[in-house]
Order: sequence, then C-alpha cells, then structure tokens
Amino acid sequence: MPPVLALDGPSGSGKGTIGQICALKFGWHYLDSGAIYRGLAWLANSKSVAADDVAGLVALAESMSLVCHVQTDDVAQIEINGRIVTDDLRTEETGEMASKIAPLGSVRAALLAMQRRCRRTPGLVADGRDMGTVVFPDAEFKVFLTASAEIRAQRRFDQLKSKGFDVNLARLLESIQARDVRDSSRAESPLKPADDAYVLDTSALSIDEVVACIMDHVNQ
Ligand code: C5P
Repeated sequence: MPPVLALDGPSGSGKGTIGQICALKFGWHYLDSGAIYRGLAWLANSKSVAADDVAGLVALAESMSLVCHVQTDDVAQIEINGRIVTDDLRTEETGEMASKIAPLGSVRAALLAMQRRCRRTPGLVADGRDMGTVVFPDAEFKVFLTASAEIRAQRRFDQLKSKGFDVNLARLLESIQARDVRDSSRAESPLKPADDAYVLDTSALSIDEVVACIMDHVNQ
C-alpha cells in the first residue's frame, strides 16, 4: 500500500495550506476531504436536495467525481463532475451545509470508498477530520493540527478577503465555534486526534515552522 500522511484538525487550523506544501515536497497526491463534503453540499444545494434527505444525498454522493488539483501558490483547485468549483465550495453557505450533512452515517459511508481510492503511488497527503482515525487508520504518519478559534477565524477571514469575498470576522468566529461543537460532538467520526497522532498547536507558528515540524516528525 502507498504511504499516507493523515493531517487532521478543526476548521482553519491550516490543514489545506500545510497539506499542499507537504504533498508538493514529497511529490505525493493530495486529498482535501473537506472539499468532498463541501462538494456534496454544493451539489445538494444546486439540485435542491435537502440536508435531511439522506437517500437523495447518498445518490448524489455515489454519482459524484472529484479531483484535487494541487497549486504551488494557492488553495487546491477542486473539480467536481468535470467543473472547477473551488470558489463555490468556500462560501459560508456551502460550509454550513457541509457541516450539517457530514454527521450522517450513510453519507459518510458513501464517501469512504472515494477517499480510499485516492491512496495511490507514490503516496498521499490526506487532510480532514477523520483521516487518521477512520479513513486511513493504518496511515504511516498522523498529524493533528490545532489553533485557537480566534486565530483560525482570522486566518479564514484573511483567506476569503484576499479572494474578494465580503466577510465579517465576528460572524466567521461564531460559525467556526459552532462548527467545532458540531464536528467534535457528533456520533459518527467525531473530530479528535488518533491515539498515535502527533498533536501540533499552530497558534503561534508560521506556515514554514509548521511544515518544518511535520518534516522533522516524518523524518524521525
Ligand atoms: O475542512 P472544511 O471546513 O472544508 O470541511 C467542511 C465540513 O466537512 C466540516 O465542517 C466538517 O464537518 C466536514 N468534514 C468531515 N470530515 C472530513 C472533512 C470535512 O466531516 N474528513
């Protein structure tokens, strides 16, 4: 089996940026699993499938194809069913819907095989909430990134602002805190570090410093 670096953590902990840099450094594939949940949420919104229509969501999940195009200087470009939808996936509306459908056990089960198929030679960096606990429990490397909610909200604010989105910091903070509660209290695949994960608080670290810590860990 090709090796996996499982990179988990809450919203805005820097998994996307760090994951892409690590994937480029290793020359490995990259999976943004949040984009799978966001992608399904976006498809559901655009086809008027409700957050409680489990059968409709599972059917959409089974027909969805997703590709992550790693960028050297930007967030990964996400292609769903042949169309680049990166910006549509980053809106708060899509994020909220993703967080509502992510707790549904049969939706998660329908998305599991798609995620495992991304484990291809020469290796995979997989970012998400349950990469090290559920999707790739046998991953060679497991890292769990944390940061305070305030710092994570500020990072998301800067990221969205630089893309020209009209964002409000206080609302982003509220939304991140609500999502933290939902992600960590749900019965299915709750957000928590794997028992064998390396837990890294990135609140006071630069991107380069986080990458250096992960490289040290992987090369130990
Ligand atoms: O990481 P991101 O904010 O893009 O994830 C969107 C939503 O998808 C999160 O709120 C989370 O509930 C869900 N998610 C998940 N499992 C993953 C990745 C994301 O439940 N592996």
